[in-house]
Amino acid sequence: MFDKILIANRGEIALRVIRAAREMGIRSVAVHSTADADAMHVRMADESVCIGPPPGTDSYLHIPSIIAAAEVTGAQAIHPGYGFLSENAGFVQIVEDHGLTFIGPTAEHIRVMGDKITAKDTMKALGVPCVPGSDGGVPDLAAAKEIGREFGYPVIIKATAGGGGRGMKVANSEAEMERAFQTARAEAKSAFGNDEVYIEKYLTTPRHIEIQVFGDGKGGAVHLGERDCSLQRRHQKVFEEAPGPCITPEERARIGKVCADAVAKINYAGAGTIEFLYEKGEFYFIEMNTRLQVEHPVTEAIFGVDLVREQIRVAEGMPMSFTQDDLTINGHAIEVRLNAEKLPDFAPRPGKITAFHAPGGLGVRMDSALYDGYVIPPYYDSLIGKLIVHGRDRAEALARLDRALGELIIDGVENTVPLFHALLQEPDIQSGTYNIHWLEHWLAQGKLG
Ligand code: ADP
Repeated sequence: MFDKILIANRGEIALRVIRAAREMGIRSVAVHSTADADAMHVRMADESVCIGPPPGTDSYLHIPSIIAAAEVTGAQAIHPGYGFLSENAGFVQIVEDHGLTFIGPTAEHIRVMGDKITAKDTMKALGVPCVPGSDGGVPDLAAAKEIGREFGYPVIIKATAGGGGRGMKVANSEAEMERAFQTARAEAKSAFGNDEVYIEKYLTTPRHIEIQVFGDGKGGAVHLGERDCSLQRRHQKVFEEAPGPCITPEERARIGKVCADAVAKINYAGAGTIEFLYEKGEFYFIEMNTRLQVEHPVTEAIFGVDLVREQIRVAEGMPMSFTQDDLTINGHAIEVRLNAEKLPDFAPRPGKITAFHAPGGLGVRMDSALYDGYVIPPYYDSLIGKLIVHGRDRAEALARLDRALGELIIDGVENTVPLFHALLQEPDIQSGTYNIHWLEHWLAQGKLG
């Protein structure tokens, strides 16, 4: 059993892990940049270590400082949160080489899933349905055009090393292929230092449905249903819900079993998310995230489990605390991401919080590192909080979201709260009728002014 863990992250996710650790009787070590000396995760942890100057590359991504902080404080394990080093296989290896435990999957699983072609090949071999497309990398324009003819337009060209929606280009016809192919390659080269691309059939009206899986590292695994994360801006999720409004219990059971069996077969350890595009009753694998996701609380709400606690247990070598039969869905949950951004263009707006009041009451969870007087530094992601509501059904969850947003006060910085007030008025949101393009179309109509 661990008695002390280090959290290699900041913001709300660092608090999330500190909270789980405290409930388990485990002491927590926060690390922070000089810009975060007054941050909530530093205040809430049992101990803290300054690991460098503000830029992420010099602090939260600086592996020697993080390892040194673990050694100095006697932490036995490191939780990476999401982002930063959470999907860095090299980091996992270094953590293990120093006799520490990484709270997450093996370096090998992170490596396989971090490369989109090997991830797709692996999933295909494990029986997971994939988007039709090229077999691996596409070497040149001639090969790209051949694939276009074989699968039919539109197609999407994607970076093998991709992430964060970069290095992706759609070609609607052979005439558009040259430009799309070269642009995707150039973007991939500059963003990831690797210009390899592959091609998939472009699905025109899919929903983004992701399956939460959890493995014990010893061949046991379960699924915790799906989340619908179709409401996206620039491939970034803004609103997530579980269960998915369009998924039937039969579909959930079928795709959930495919996913749980797949990760069981590879002895996957800890939390993972298998992401799909879903169109006309079919699921198409796009990628697997080998970490905790931002939107994990909606799954926690409907299943009544603590996924971080479970991650820590599995990292300690203990069995999972639930079996598939223990996991039944209770009600409906929705999460909205609160960003310090100015609408309607979503430009980052760091600054000082002059007043903060978190909503409360039945079925309301606020995960945020904000406090009155806190100064949001300009160096990091603009996510400042997540509001999660849980109701007996979707209608109750929507009403509760409306009520909770009304109680929330975030003064001093512009933020995305008005977006959600506006979305809740939309009949398509009320009925759950949306796909991955819905939000972009709605924004393009100038609905936010
Ligand atoms: P990243 O790792 O960069 O986020 P993903 O492969 O997860 O890339 O894709 C991100 C988003 O891009 C998806 O949620 C979807 O909106 C869109 N997308 C990706 N592949 C396709 C496809 N084959 N057809 C249609 N849209 C796609």
